[in-house]
Amino acid sequence: MRHLLPCLLGASLWLLSLYGEEEIEFLKRKEGDQLVLSVSNGAYLPMQVRLSGALAGYESDHPFPILATLPPRSVPDLARLTPAKGATRLSMKVSLEAWPGDPGRVPDTNVTYLFPWAHGVRHAVGQGYGGAFSHQGLKALDFDLAEGEAIHAARGGIVVRILSNFTRGGLDPALISQGNILDVLHDDGTVAHYDHLRAHGTVRRLGEHVAAGDLLAYCGHTGYGSGAHLHFEVTRARAAEKPLAIPTFFAGPGGQRLVAEEGLWYTALHPGKPPVKAPPPIETLFREWSALTNAVARTGSVQLRGEQREDRFLLYIQNGYDRQITLKITLESKNLGPLTEAGNPVLCPALCETLFGVYRVLRAGEKIRYGMSYELLP
Ligand SMILES: [Zn+2]
Repeated sequence: MRHLLPCLLGASLWLLSLYGEEEIEFLKRKEGDQLVLSVSNGAYLPMQVRLSGALAGYESDHPFPILATLPPRSVPDLARLTPAKGATRLSMKVSLEAWPGDPGRVPDTNVTYLFPWAHGVRHAVGQGYGGAFSHQGLKALDFDLAEGEAIHAARGGIVVRILSNFTRGGLDPALISQGNILDVLHDDGTVAHYDHLRAHGTVRRLGEHVAAGDLLAYCGHTGYGSGAHLHFEVTRARAAEKPLAIPTFFAGPGGQRLVAEEGLWYTALHPGKPPVKAPPPIETLFREWSALTNAVARTGSVQLRGEQREDRFLLYIQNGYDRQITLKITLESKNLGPLTEAGNPVLCPALCETLFGVYRVLRAGEKIRYGMSYELLP
């Protein structure tokens, strides 16, 4: 998030719409024969700014470029320009850049985050840190929440950004900047981002304090993505650079601190709530499902087998050939939403079944249909 706005002397006000509905404004005012330059930070979090410029005929009390971190909701003066003695021509050309956050703050790595959904509910990590779909080089997590599902604060702080007017979601690259977002500033200067929220789906106001576990918003399918989910990341500010996503630890059973991994399931455990019976591992681990290799009779064909486990649906490829094969699968289904697929093409060992994917049952009680066509790869 970096904005560059070249400005020329003559205009009196520059607006930089930078962080949600808030704005960064460049202002100047005359005091006698002096010009005072200031920047207004309308956001609820600190902003770094860099004011660069070329002056003719003026002397500045601060040399350009001026780097400053503006407190939230403040309008500090950054420079005072005085006409040089004997100057015949006065001109000023400035540009303003801004980045969210205070780069001087050090993230507290001892904090344990809550999984950001209702206590006792379990969800899978559809895409983890560095995930191949859209998290390359990014310490971000996609949790498989459904449309309308409640999102709770992973950590307490102040709500500093709300975007909630977007209505569209899909895989069109134009939608990358159209996800609804709620950001929470923590007391160590890091910011949690909760993305892809339902349109008008936040229950908080800008500047409001929230505690860990408080209801924030409802999950949606806005912005870039194949379906409803919660994209969660925590960032730290960097000097004159966009913020960097950093890894976080989550509260697990018995006080464990967990790193959330792609393909695994986690139950939200919020303090002060009734204890949660730990689900048996077979229902919690995609990896354990995929490690199941049931034997298959020699049929000389390939079949698809579906199996429901609570609100999830598993699809297995059964290889009835007595040799290992590699298949490129084209799946058609009804009433199943994507969740985690093991990879396509699929390597299928001889005479056994291989987990192809785990899906969400979209409408409980309605019929589930599935079928596939496949291509045998050499
Ligand atoms: Zn994501």
